[in-house]
Amino acid sequence: MRVTRETKTLDFMLALGTSLREQCSAVVNLIAVSGSMSRSKIMDELGWSRSTTTRAVTTLLDERLLLEDLTHDGVGRGRPAALLRLNPTAGTIVGVDLGFTSVRVILAALDHRVIASDESKLAPSYGADEGFRAAREMVERLLRSTGTSWEKVIGAGFAVGAPIDSESNSVTLESLRQHWTGDLQAWASQYFPCPAFIGNDTRLACYAELLWGTGRDYDNFIYLKLHSGTGGCFVINRTIVAGAKGGAGEIGHMIVDPGGEICRCGGRGCLETKVGVPAMLRSLSPALGAQVTWEDVRGHLADGDAATLRAFADAYDAIGQASASLCNILNPQAVILGGALSRTSPDIAQTVGDITRRHALSINSDVRVEVGELGRNSAALGAVAYVLMQGIV
Ligand SMILES: [Zn+2]
Repeated sequence: MRVTRETKTLDFMLALGTSLREQCSAVVNLIAVSGSMSRSKIMDELGWSRSTTTRAVTTLLDERLLLEDLTHDGVGRGRPAALLRLNPTAGTIVGVDLGFTSVRVILAALDHRVIASDESKLAPSYGADEGFRAAREMVERLLRSTGTSWEKVIGAGFAVGAPIDSESNSVTLESLRQHWTGDLQAWASQYFPCPAFIGNDTRLACYAELLWGTGRDYDNFIYLKLHSGTGGCFVINRTIVAGAKGGAGEIGHMIVDPGGEICRCGGRGCLETKVGVPAMLRSLSPALGAQVTWEDVRGHLADGDAATLRAFADAYDAIGQASASLCNILNPQAVILGGALSRTSPDIAQTVGDITRRHALSINSDVRVEVGELGRNSAALGAVAYVLMQGIV
């Protein structure tokens, strides 16, 4: 499916001179990821003069891409402060989470509010073509149901469950995602008539939690994605550690059992072979049958089934021990959990927290373990953040 590019809502930017366009873009991207702020805060953040700031802000207010709210200081004196925020109706962003067995799409307003969402189940070995096609079909339906046109869509971000080379936009470990070879950004652009951006799903989910979720409260934290795959992401001084080629954080492939199962990465005894959803389903099949699904497991857990409780206790031990090792290395303020496993059992944060603190060095005794508040939208929201960060104009 080939598509042609259409005129964009924000095309007024293209008519501006280069320097003013870049300045407007910087203001929009700053407010998009940091939230509403005053003119003086923009000056400080971007290191600009008052006149440069005023010129860019005035242009954006005239085009109604920015709106201005007056707030009082709370004691009834002094001039009200003007806070600038993005006009949420000025554009729509598509976020896509290309998981192992499902594709989830969201439409988000410029203030990252989720307007609509949908999800499709696909076969575990689905390829990029199938994934992008399913995403495009869902987006078309969501655009129609919300009365939005492609003209309003500023960009689409794609979260892929595999390590992504940040320079070539390709999957670096193809055994993890077969049928996903080549430049995925170029591939996505064949299906989506808007700028497209590709990133690793765990890192994007972490980015969303950092900006808009549980990570807002922490400068240093570890994000663990506990899903079909097991991933990690480290935030140090509110910056995500990417690594030399964008491959940092693959804690799912940390060896926790040298005599354990062969992993899909080609290694043996990786954490993912103990706590990934497919691994847990395999371990439960002698007790619950080979066809057992994660939905079944949720029910068995709620019912207190002995085998299911055993499987979860073992998984929590493995996660807690891995988390303790990571805490000893990074000494974070918090460990934030995401993925299906984090949403299955209400006691996961408490239990993994207790195990983490028990095994970690005493300097980590107050580390907090929490479930990320953005839930199943986290990776798709991270993809939205990625668009806002670098692709809005
Ligand atoms: Zn592995």
